[in-house]
Amino acid sequence: ARKRELTVADTTCTYCGVGCRFELYGRGEEILGVRPADPDRTPANDFSTCVKGKFGYDYVGSDERLTTPLVREDGEFREASWDEALDLVAERLTEVREEHGADSLAVTSSSKSTNEANFLAQKFARQVLGTPHVDNCTRLCHSSTVAALKQTVGYGAMTNRINEDVGETDCYLITGSNTTESHPVLATRIVQNVRDGADLFVFDPRKMTVADHADQYTRTRPGTDIAWLNGMMRHIVEEDLYDEAFVEERTRQFDDLVETVEPYTPDLVEEVSGVPPADLERAAETIARSETCVYGWAMGLTQHSHGTRNALAIANLALLCGHVGKPRSGLSPFRGQNNVQGGGGDMGPIPNNLPGYQPVDDEDVLDRFEASWGVRPPDRVGLRITDMFSAVPGVEETVSGRSEADAYGGDEPGTDEEDRGTEDPGADEGYTPENTDVRGMYIVGENPALSEPDVQHAEEALEALDLLVVQELFMTETAEHADVVLPAASMAEKYGTVTNTERRIQLVRPAAESPGEARTDVAILQDLAGRLGFDWGYGSPDDVMDEINELTPIYGGVTHERLEERGEGLQWPCWDEDHPGTPYLYEDEFNFDDGLARFVPSELPDELYPLATEEYPFTLTTGRVLYHWHTGSMTRRGTASMKQVPESFVTIHPEAAERLGVVDDEYVSVESRQGEVVVRANVEETSGPDVLFIPMHFVHGAVNRLTKEELDPLSKIPEYKVTNVRVRPL
Ligand code: SF4
Repeated sequence: ARKRELTVADTTCTYCGVGCRFELYGRGEEILGVRPADPDRTPANDFSTCVKGKFGYDYVGSDERLTTPLVREDGEFREASWDEALDLVAERLTEVREEHGADSLAVTSSSKSTNEANFLAQKFARQVLGTPHVDNCTRLCHSSTVAALKQTVGYGAMTNRINEDVGETDCYLITGSNTTESHPVLATRIVQNVRDGADLFVFDPRKMTVADHADQYTRTRPGTDIAWLNGMMRHIVEEDLYDEAFVEERTRQFDDLVETVEPYTPDLVEEVSGVPPADLERAAETIARSETCVYGWAMGLTQHSHGTRNALAIANLALLCGHVGKPRSGLSPFRGQNNVQGGGGDMGPIPNNLPGYQPVDDEDVLDRFEASWGVRPPDRVGLRITDMFSAVPGVEETVSGRSEADAYGGDEPGTDEEDRGTEDPGADEGYTPENTDVRGMYIVGENPALSEPDVQHAEEALEALDLLVVQELFMTETAEHADVVLPAASMAEKYGTVTNTERRIQLVRPAAESPGEARTDVAILQDLAGRLGFDWGYGSPDDVMDEINELTPIYGGVTHERLEERGEGLQWPCWDEDHPGTPYLYEDEFNFDDGLARFVPSELPDELYPLATEEYPFTLTTGRVLYHWHTGSMTRRGTASMKQVPESFVTIHPEAAERLGVVDDEYVSVESRQGEVVVRANVEETSGPDVLFIPMHFVHGAVNRLTKEELDPLSKIPEYKVTNVRVRPL
């Protein structure tokens, strides 16, 4: 029966990693509105919500929501009961496993879902299916950050708080982040603090709104960040501006760092990155002399085929200046999805870690999981999501792989791992696309048919699978390829927890009813596990959190009861029920046995991809816009977002537009070696004359038809930020 009374839920925004809290007003299956919560009880939204938080929730009541399970018959979908659909999924999963082994199955989970659902997704993979192949969209955004921070400071997470640290620091270095559009409320805090006197340095190929408030904006060449970051460190060491006591007492491997940065002279930095020496030195000196500093970055730094090296370089800089482990300072990777920290990493739906970043090959850890689950989880590192699609048999070699090799006369640059970076903890090369055949995939809430680099390849792989099951809100571009589609509840319809970019675990509560027969991820996975012989027996998400407490030490003291009492949530590590949580990390020691941070020197790859070629004279970069979110599966169903930005576009500098005869607001063709899209031209000066930008949110003009499947060898994050393209008016 439809619920007609008004429901007001104190809940967490389901969009970006800031994790603003607000009251969500719902009636029946509709969301009626949003009101920001009491600022005294919230971490981030004492200004307001942003436009997505305020007006971005009508997707919940969209007519396009999936309301009943669908199974494919004779090439067409038909409606099915839950019993029929889940029996079919259980039967087909069992068939594929019996014929090809558990290693032929893969699961991807969603950062759009709760921690409880993500915990169960990895449990479903490891306990029920017995496969090591489980991954999450975190692979595509900050996996390089996680790999770098684990090596340098110990935890793959933001070290500090939004309000008290990011909002109160003396100085910022922001790079590769369109903060104003991607993390709007966080950007508001930063801008207010800058107005109150904090210094702001922005290094980026695109001059975005946050740079309008900067003391210094420096345009960099895409993908060359290691040069200017190392150049800054060289200058700081040369001028004796580094924090000697911190380096001496709290770090290791300083001499290695000094040796590595030595060649990065101002001339070399300018030649490689386009950063003038005066800009480099001014920023380096101000940052090093600042008592406190926040280092903020996002995907402009991470989404490169040398993304781990980039993130290592910024971590080294912060350590050199002693800006980690104290208030109002710290390393601040701005995470994209509202639960990518918790659902994407903490809960262990990643192939190298069980929940709480516990290695999959640690015998003691495996013993504890086996004691709880009655099954020993696989002890080898499974495939990353970006490798799963290359492991589907019968799919041609990727288009991008062939053409990039051709572009270099048969030798792809920098594919030698030795040449790219340092050891990724847990990067066991046991499973590779070459030695693994993935034949069945269970996808929870992800849309790889738009988010994977080289979507042509992803589409071919999805079609070639023996079995594809998709659990979703909408008939996404990925669900269109499925054998079975299971209708899921949105975040506005369920209870559980999410963890924002500052490691803060907060509650989500239901404000609306799910449409038709849609069910929560937790309910669907539990039902399916039962049909495959595992009676999980959870009565509610509370019971799932109890198991998370038991098996995930950093969440040991996080209970729904405590969160119900504390409006401000809890920040992990939170070891037990008496622990207050950890506002900022590494006050006393870093997360290594000896308590010391590590400088892990990072060099430019021997060969960078060229930013342009004769045939493809522009560099294309990708990203987000304020009104949309990720592959747009939600915001493209929202009236406010579609009214503001109804279709994709390419930004092009006026000089280049004039030279090519491109007219503002008219359609142009943008072509790379991988493919071609047709989009409207936005003639503007955000980027330099050689750099174009297309957002990531749209089906028509899908930018990942142009990007290439070139992966960071350590984190397997794709290169989304440097693609050679040409543009012509139509
Ligand atoms: Fe939601 Fe992020 Fe906007 Fe806050 S800043 S309202 S979390 S989208």
